[in-house]
Amino acid sequence: MSLQEKIDQASHWVLAYYSVKSIQDPHAEITRHKDFFENLEVAGRIYISEQGINGQMSGTREAAQKYMDWMHSREEYADQVFKIHPWSAQAFERMTVKYRESLLGTDEAVNFDAVAPHVSPAEWRRMLEERDDNTILIDVRNKYEWDVGHFEGSELPDCDTFRDFPKYIEELKDRVDPKKAKVMMCCTGGIRCEFFSPMMRERGFENVYQLEGGIINYGLQEGNEHWDGKLFVFDDRMVVPISDDEANCIGQCHQCGTSSDHYYNCANMDCNHLFLSCQKCLAELKGCCKEECTEAARVRPFEHQNPHKPFRRKHVYAKEDPRSASFGE
Ligand SMILES: [Zn+2]
Ligand SMILES: [Zn+2]
Repeated sequence: MSLQEKIDQASHWVLAYYSVKSIQDPHAEITRHKDFFENLEVAGRIYISEQGINGQMSGTREAAQKYMDWMHSREEYADQVFKIHPWSAQAFERMTVKYRESLLGTDEAVNFDAVAPHVSPAEWRRMLEERDDNTILIDVRNKYEWDVGHFEGSELPDCDTFRDFPKYIEELKDRVDPKKAKVMMCCTGGIRCEFFSPMMRERGFENVYQLEGGIINYGLQEGNEHWDGKLFVFDDRMVVPISDDEANCIGQCHQCGTSSDHYYNCANMDCNHLFLSCQKCLAELKGCCKEECTEAARVRPFEHQNPHKPFRRKHVYAKEDPRSASFGE
């Protein structure tokens, strides 16, 4: 079955989208959204700020279609792009529409006029195939996302938080000539590049290109070509193949190193660390990330049948890493 057929037949759709068109009154927009969602079978996490909208949501096929139609009927969102994934249930627990001062949780003022040119998945693929030593492929996601899948030969900036990114740019300048280097930048759905690419350009990098619609869009259009592994997503699915092609597993159990791309939140509620684990190690540590956590005061009971509990309310990186905290891409 082709992807389009799967989309047409699925009971639910998972939508990923963003808009960096500024919003005069974000609170009014939030109300408009909440009113529209009333009695509609949708779930998700939509952040709205003066900078725009960052949305991840799921809905029955009909409800998701209604939402897209509603957005498209409004002049300012007439050409809004939605990435659609077929699914069999809601991918979120509930619907949250919330104000975020900054869509990505950065205090840096972003000059959206300096955003890098967007390249289509087909063009991106051609650039990957023609890349030379002068090309740097930068993946602006988090390490836990990179660990289960990434483009071949891509580089993960050594940053703990979004605020470290300018430092990374300065270090990169010691390695390459910012006037000559060709920078290809990608992230999950494209929104992070909207913030990171102007930062690079304003710091002297002259040839920066960002992947239109992110890795999600690439998978939908180009399949697994030059992609290794799977894709981390910020909903109940957690890790998904990027296309219909056979996806390999590049993740490793953090205890024993065997192949696994299943993420778990530590059963110790005061730890809640997100880690990759095989079934055997997970059972041995009763759902905890390390021995020490098994003896902690507040440990969720471990259920063999259903150890795969996605992080819904609490996710340790959300506290520690402002990049992921607010990206929730
Ligand atoms: Zn293991
Ligand atoms: Zn732990």
